[in-house]
Amino acid sequence: MPELPEVEITRRGIEPHLARRRITAVIVRNRALRWPVPRNLAARLLGREIRAVGRRAKYLLFDCGTGTLILHLGMSGSLRIVPPDEPPGPYDHFDLAVGDVSVRLRDPRRFGAVLWTAGDPAQHPLLAHLGVEPLSGAFTGGMLHAAMRGRRVAIKLAIMDHRIVAGVGNIYASESLFRAGIHPRTPARRVSAARCERLASAVRATLEAALAAGGSTLRDFVQSDGSPGYFQQQYHVYDRAGEACRTCGRPIQRVVQGQRSTFFCPRCPT
Ligand SMILES: [Zn+2]
Repeated sequence: MPELPEVEITRRGIEPHLARRRITAVIVRNRALRWPVPRNLAARLLGREIRAVGRRAKYLLFDCGTGTLILHLGMSGSLRIVPPDEPPGPYDHFDLAVGDVSVRLRDPRRFGAVLWTAGDPAQHPLLAHLGVEPLSGAFTGGMLHAAMRGRRVAIKLAIMDHRIVAGVGNIYASESLFRAGIHPRTPARRVSAARCERLASAVRATLEAALAAGGSTLRDFVQSDGSPGYFQQQYHVYDRAGEACRTCGRPIQRVVQGQRSTFFCPRCPT
């Protein structure tokens, strides 16, 4: 599943090809994504200039002046820049052309979304409830500590709650807690101010490291094969159950929290 770094790398990969260019074609091959693609989408978009491609949590926001195209990659979606005449594959459900290039959505599982809003995208029902952006200056240890007050839920689940922090998924939650030396089952309200500072720094460092790893894939956005934006990284704990902790050598453990796997080192957390 594309997590926040993949979405941000996707944004950086496609924006130079699309920004300040006029939309010349809109092709919807399959409307049955997570929500139906609006029938009037082409009428809304044709002839509009894409002013910028922004991002909020894992939503890509194509600012078209009169409104915003909201695009989510879901479980399996990816975007590529292709020549408009390149034949589509069976999972290529949506194209947006700006003259001599198109951005193409491929989404085998169809949990992605292509939507339109004429209003302020921040007020759209999918975005209005989202918490702070983890890569923004507003995400601090003090903010995190205040948000954890009174919460009995495990810290792992709390930092994956998008109403608190927007876009920290399962991989980056496990990795950040390991970096911060916090056991993932610790009740959120018991995480001290000092440890919240460490955790906020760890979340940012983990995401920044992923962005750095993904930066080398940017050129892939103009290749016609492969699945861009999904890059390999070396994780400290994620998906390493039974393997040796890179810090202390103990086997990494796996537990299930909120129906998701959590990976941690039993010795390193303090
Ligand atoms: Zn360890």
